[in-house]
Amino acid sequence: MIEVTPGIYCLPLPLPIPHLSNINTYLVRGDNGYLLVDTGWNTEKAFNSLKKQLAEIGISGQEISQIVLTHAHPDHYGLAGELKRLYGASLALHHLEKDFIESRYISMDGLIQDIGQLLHRNGAPPDRLPELQKASLPMLKFVTPILPDVTLYGGETITCGDFSFEVMPTPGHAPGHICLYEPAKKIFISGDHILPNITPHVGLHPQSGSNPLGDYLDSLEQLKKLEVELVLPGHEQPFTGFRERIEGIILHHRLRNAEIMGALGYDSKTAFQLTTEITWLHDVKGVGWYKLDSWDKRIAILETMAHLEAMRARGELARFNRDDIIYYRLPRKAKNDE
Ligand SMILES: [Zn+2]
Ligand SMILES: [Zn+2]
Repeated sequence: MIEVTPGIYCLPLPLPIPHLSNINTYLVRGDNGYLLVDTGWNTEKAFNSLKKQLAEIGISGQEISQIVLTHAHPDHYGLAGELKRLYGASLALHHLEKDFIESRYISMDGLIQDIGQLLHRNGAPPDRLPELQKASLPMLKFVTPILPDVTLYGGETITCGDFSFEVMPTPGHAPGHICLYEPAKKIFISGDHILPNITPHVGLHPQSGSNPLGDYLDSLEQLKKLEVELVLPGHEQPFTGFRERIEGIILHHRLRNAEIMGALGYDSKTAFQLTTEITWLHDVKGVGWYKLDSWDKRIAILETMAHLEAMRARGELARFNRDDIIYYRLPRKAKNDE
């Protein structure tokens, strides 16, 4: 636990993921209760760590009066149900994330089928589909699903003590992802939208909208005009250099586009083929797709699809269907290009 700025504490909680050791939750001091931003996974280890850090600050869980979630991924949302049950804090979440709680965490059959269909149409071989479709199921045990008390739409102000945070919708990593901006103090709580070293996953998904990478890059561009002195990210360390980091992430995606275009050449290929021809985990080590675990294998394909669709939206790529499978190629005047 560290007090990153007077009145805001960073409480990192452990994650059971090999290349991502912590999720940062942020505790903001108020006059009538504290605000907690994000909650960590629902594991005993994470919950004990949270209780220990609250005790170090000298408060009890009951003093948390509001919880705001940047998005409903398991590492940010998993413990929310348990905290709500034990401490009774009011819970706020963006409406798009709220709408997906049922299909992601309660009755998942439809989503599993939709993902299977999407991966199949993008060239994933049939024998790999069951593994890829079910890759997210192990995460479910880390989530206690709960609906929010407060539904956010963007533009609201969340006040706590000396702080007034603007709710800023920042779609891309998740369709209903939000960041919190404190303009007077120039503090930006970035969730998974902007991280200091790794680049957040942005994938095309049945729930992502048709061009999530386009949405992501657009929302990064929008943020550039903000005055920010301290960024409080959902993973890794708080950092300065907000605009430089945004430029770095934009550059990263340009380079990924170039790598994908290089693998495509003048050929016609599926997203799956291209996924297996480029490198992965480049922030960590850089390995081929076949060496990834099931979860990373799936998100790698979804990321490639997001890149391809972003380039298609800009007219840099075309796609066509053959036997119900989607192929990408350089655009040319052909009747069957979509
Ligand atoms: Zn996330
Ligand atoms: Zn995260």
